[in-house]
Amino acid sequence: MKVLLVYPEFPDTFWSFKHALPFQGKRSAYPPLGLLTVSALLPSSWPKRLVDLNVRSLKDSDLAWADVVFFSGMMVQGPSMKAQIARAKQRGLRTIVGGPIASAQDPAIAEADHVVEGEAEEMIPGLVADLERGEVKPHYVRSELPDLKRVPLPDLHLASLRRYSAMAVQFSRGCPFTCEFCDIIEIYGRRPRTKAPEQILAEFDQLYRFGWRGPVFLVDDNFIGNKKCVKLLLPRLVEWMRDHKFPFSLFTEASLNLAEDPELLRMMREAHFTRVFLGIETPVAESLKETTKFQNLRMDLLESVRLIQAHGIEVMAGFIVGFDSDPPDVFQRQIQFIREAAIPLSMVGLLTALPNTQLWRRLKAEGRLIKQSLGSNTLLDLNFIPKMDAEELLAGYRRIMQTIYSPREYFERASAFLSQLGEAARAPIVFSDMMAVVRSLWRQGLRSNYRKEYWKFLAQTLQQHRQHLGKAITLAIMGHHFFELTASDMEN
Ligand code: SF4
Repeated sequence: MKVLLVYPEFPDTFWSFKHALPFQGKRSAYPPLGLLTVSALLPSSWPKRLVDLNVRSLKDSDLAWADVVFFSGMMVQGPSMKAQIARAKQRGLRTIVGGPIASAQDPAIAEADHVVEGEAEEMIPGLVADLERGEVKPHYVRSELPDLKRVPLPDLHLASLRRYSAMAVQFSRGCPFTCEFCDIIEIYGRRPRTKAPEQILAEFDQLYRFGWRGPVFLVDDNFIGNKKCVKLLLPRLVEWMRDHKFPFSLFTEASLNLAEDPELLRMMREAHFTRVFLGIETPVAESLKETTKFQNLRMDLLESVRLIQAHGIEVMAGFIVGFDSDPPDVFQRQIQFIREAAIPLSMVGLLTALPNTQLWRRLKAEGRLIKQSLGSNTLLDLNFIPKMDAEELLAGYRRIMQTIYSPREYFERASAFLSQLGEAARAPIVFSDMMAVVRSLWRQGLRSNYRKEYWKFLAQTLQQHRQHLGKAITLAIMGHHFFELTASDMEN
């Protein structure tokens, strides 16, 4: 059976990095790890082909080749998925959809012939048997959360690695915390499950064998959700990286209690983690309590960020406005916090009620849900009735974005961050990085309307923290993505 694996296109969001990727000559941020893993779970005798629409188009010849089409993706990919399912069905192909979008019961999945809801490892064997018999059920739902020790190596040969700016590896799923708005804990549970260190080393070996050098994203929901297991993994990672002369730089997502554990920070630094994404959400304590994000109340937020930065690890963070407890000055407080914490890449979003979350259930009970979430909290689109006047909330959100991503404010923040950054792990320099420098100097240094701020930032870096020059160029390029996106989004 010939299987076509299709990954729909991402819209232009903060996380797509669409305006930064051309500097490196890349098409997309990461390959679709879920589909590459699904491929490895299918019988090896079945021919497979991957089409990631973020990298290339889906051709009629791809559809003509296939017997069945598997789709996976997130809610933001819904419109693209819907269009491609329709195309496949027009050709009489069987369509199957899975991934986070299926668990979120997004309307786009209703177009497919079959839905697989839950983690693939659990359900693929049954689905394969049914496909072979030609008796496929309309809906497959997980009965239990699979043991990650059973996850195979992803079928990396299906992806064109050079098209991506980073590779993706997953160590754990799930998170022990209880944030009210979070869908991770509903889908993957509150008991973090992890792979064995040997599985991660095998994935690193495979990436190395395929010639990958550069960034690797540990795509965990919360990398430190199970600290005991992470502390067993990290010494093995350090050893592997040393043996291979540090070919990768690592980044991941973690909860803020990372700052409470200097041993963990030291180990992550040694393993060459260079950036971590933290869900800070808000400096307003009442709002953190409301959303039951108690782990962010244990230590001073600013102190936590600085501690991590002092270990040579960049903090990238998520912020939210729209909580019931947000006071009228929340917007200025967010701006002030982002400025003081010196977090260049701050992803500020509007609160959104994702399906089947605790927040969604509460708002539904209170009669405040308006519509299905679009799966992106950076769109100027509320799916619930906020306590604050909606117009005031949207205007305040716009003000935050326009302030923090004005080139002057951004470069000042990036400069402050570099002065706070401790000795960072040295990232390997690859050809695409060198091209990125040339393109940045040309496009940002000569042709942009913020070239004055750009050169001031680079000059300051050369004078005060020359050792971070590579990081400064990366931040300038990332900044360009946010400048472009904020300018276009805020017009809508
Ligand atoms: S810490 Fe992050 S992953 Fe964990 S429950 Fe909160 S939002 Fe979800």
